[in-house]
Amino acid sequence: MSPTVAGPGPETTAAAPAAADAAGAAAREALAWAHGARFQTTASRLDQLPADELPEIAFVGRSNAGKSSAINALVQQRRLAFASKTPGRTQHINLFALGPREQPDARWADLPGYGYAAVERAAKLRWQQVMADYLQQRPQLRGIVLLVDSRLGLTELDRRLLDFVAERVHTGQVRLLVLLTKADKLSRRDAEAALAAASAALGELAGEAADIGLALFSATARTGLGDVAATLHGWVHPAPPA
Ligand code: GDP
Repeated sequence: MSPTVAGPGPETTAAAPAAADAAGAAAREALAWAHGARFQTTASRLDQLPADELPEIAFVGRSNAGKSSAINALVQQRRLAFASKTPGRTQHINLFALGPREQPDARWADLPGYGYAAVERAAKLRWQQVMADYLQQRPQLRGIVLLVDSRLGLTELDRRLLDFVAERVHTGQVRLLVLLTKADKLSRRDAEAALAAASAALGELAGEAADIGLALFSATARTGLGDVAATLHGWVHPAPPA
């Protein structure tokens, strides 16, 4: 189409459905990719993690934030992330492989939920260290999905976790997507207030090179599912240069 005819008019209205179709196609492709997720391995120390170069996306959040439900919704499997809740695995990094079976193209790392009062103090400290090390040092880490209960907002513990990754996020080495979970429980007005508060709290991490996203999410109502899948898919499948 000639640029001279572009502008307000029929072309503009025709472009919207085309963009929506493209977004829908990207979401479908990403959801199909996510659906192929399978449990790979569990690790309690960094040196037990795979040494290959597959890009990783880490899921983090306070216990009860809705992390397992979000992962299960994204992969469209009822129990995948509940593997992380079975005895012996709750304080482990659980890894899921994605992409073709013979040639996986990414991994998702389900990190232990933090802030769970029943974990005894020494174990908690050890765990914080493993998580901090993973987030600060794991070279394969491309992005972090931080799950935050939309009714609580970012808590002190979430901020402390973000401190671990502030530098890598700020420089754009690691992307960040904050999901305000259980959005089905909020009125529209409360949802807007939750977004505004979280956005203000994340402002400190922003910077020219940083890629920080924020979205409402509901595993039960499937709010944000396609968009989140498309974002994560894009993190590990960058578009070829034009
Ligand atoms: P995790 O500890 O972070 O893995 O949290 P879970 O996924 O186990 O969820 C904690 C609680 O929140 C459970 O009772 C879930 O049923 C509930 N929950 C999780 N996601 C949603 C959601 O999208 N909507 C609602 N209403 N409840 C949710």
